[in-house]
Amino acid sequence: MKIIDIIKSGKPSLSFEVFPPKTSDSFDGVKKASEEIATLSPSFMSVTYGAGGGTSEYTLKIAQNLQSKGVTALAHLTCVNSTKEEVEMRLKMLKKSGIENVLALRGDITPENQNREKWDYHYANELVTQIKKEYDFCVGGACYPEGHPECETQSLDIKNLKRKVEAGCDFLTTQMFFDNNILYNFIYKLRENGINVPIIAGIMPVTNGKQIKRTCALSGSVLPQRFKAIVDKYSDNPEAMKQAGIAYATEQIIDLYANGINVVHIYSMNKFDVAKKIRDNISEIIK
Ligand code: FAD
Repeated sequence: MKIIDIIKSGKPSLSFEVFPPKTSDSFDGVKKASEEIATLSPSFMSVTYGAGGGTSEYTLKIAQNLQSKGVTALAHLTCVNSTKEEVEMRLKMLKKSGIENVLALRGDITPENQNREKWDYHYANELVTQIKKEYDFCVGGACYPEGHPECETQSLDIKNLKRKVEAGCDFLTTQMFFDNNILYNFIYKLRENGINVPIIAGIMPVTNGKQIKRTCALSGSVLPQRFKAIVDKYSDNPEAMKQAGIAYATEQIIDLYANGINVVHIYSMNKFDVAKKIRDNISEIIK
């Protein structure tokens, strides 16, 4: 099924993200975790892609396995470290495997891939154009309610985002955010700039206080004071932190649904117990 059709149904829904293994040793563990999460009947599941392409084979295998279990899969695909031929080959394999949805990403610039002259792709909009020209995938793109960390101003980032949407994105999924008002303001600005595709809200249940400080520093996401107090209080108590993080994410999700954001994507990081608790907390709401 295409994700755009899930969105168009207009019902509140929940989807989950998993990341593939880096090596074959952990493949079975990740496959099992993704299958467990699949039993929660998500509207779809996304499978991330290693920035350097190292896990491309596993992204495909996990996504394909989810589809075989009856769950719509969204395969992430980055381009910055790949040639056009490599991307073409991956797209063909996705199509052959029956995957209908692709999240088209540039990928992060790392110390290993800074040689711009060698790049076939500079920005995700080039990948979106390539996919839409030759394939019938439903294509998503990433967006950043607090601005992409590399971009000087949010208005410039939105202009760049518009180029990506005009290249053919059917929907956008947000970077994590911890204050819903940031998302509501962002959506207002998108609409003002003529970006009218559906927005999927990405929610990260924080279950590790120390990790979140590092993640926020990298992604540029701001932790609101209310949430900082929770992290300060519970980060040394893993079980309490997990409970508080799930409660905070649940509150965010209910507020999003109440304000008309129907599709919420959980950065569940292969954690079945976290995904299940969130799903159970809103079971009547998404029934
Ligand atoms: P782009 O849309 O290309 O934007 C990158 C930067 O360039 C922005 O600052 C933008 O303003 C600017 N820009 C864009 N287009 C132009 C243009 N034409 N001219 C000038 N400037 C431009 N990374 C992974 O490695 N694997 C994953 O699976 C993965 N999944 C993700 C899922 C989501 C929902 C999100 C939000 C991010 C994900 N990422 C993933 C991280 C992502 O790869 C990085 O954030 C990366 O730095 C930017 O990718 P992008 O596709 O948003 O890039």
